[in-house]
Amino acid sequence: MERLQKVLAQAGIASRRKCEEYITSGRVQVNDVVVRELGTKVDPAADLIKVDGKAIKAQSKTYLMLNKPKGVITSATDPEGRKVVTDFLPGVKERVYPVGRLDYETEGLLILTNDGEFANLLTHPRNHVPRTYLATVKGNLHGSVLDKLKAGVKLDDGMTAPAEADYYDINPEKNETVVVITIFEGRNRQVRRMFEAVHHPVIRLKRVMFGPLELGGLPRGKFRALSEKEVQALR
Ligand code: URA
Repeated sequence: MERLQKVLAQAGIASRRKCEEYITSGRVQVNDVVVRELGTKVDPAADLIKVDGKAIKAQSKTYLMLNKPKGVITSATDPEGRKVVTDFLPGVKERVYPVGRLDYETEGLLILTNDGEFANLLTHPRNHVPRTYLATVKGNLHGSVLDKLKAGVKLDDGMTAPAEADYYDINPEKNETVVVITIFEGRNRQVRRMFEAVHHPVIRLKRVMFGPLELGGLPRGKFRALSEKEVQALR
């Protein structure tokens, strides 16, 4: 069950604030009864909701994957007018929002949806959804450092949970190493902070998997809809 004004706003009727005005001024009916009470809970799938006598259409559930470029904010809007991830979704009419976040400088797989329950499921710490990154780091990284990352490193906000980490590419001429790392929690700037803790700062960070979902060959800055099978696999 959801609050009536939220359901109206999500159906694209107007802003939440405006929808509240519609309700209090008696323009909204639920199952043919005028409702003026703002907190009224409705079931958008079962209740017949009308505005000015016209039934609203529930917004269809949308699930997208974006290959976020670096230099973009993981947010639906930015008051300072900087580039945000929704700028990369031409033609998408639904009001989708990002599932979790990638740092400004981090690129790669980002899911966007208008399904709040689905988003909560994927980001709730209890569910330990794996996130896999390719981290290009400074220096020639010793195997013992990989072991440390796997076992857990000490950060300001506590030890990290066991992770998976392996070499992906070794580039001694450039004095860089690419590590494929999978973490099972989603703390703020976690991968960058883990590599800082072992003295190999991250030069470039790209998320390539989220749960079973793979970025694959999706070009940078492009998005696609998830298939039904992919959505099911994430649930
Ligand atoms: N870890 C980071 O440091 N940054 C991200 O964007 C995601 C994980």
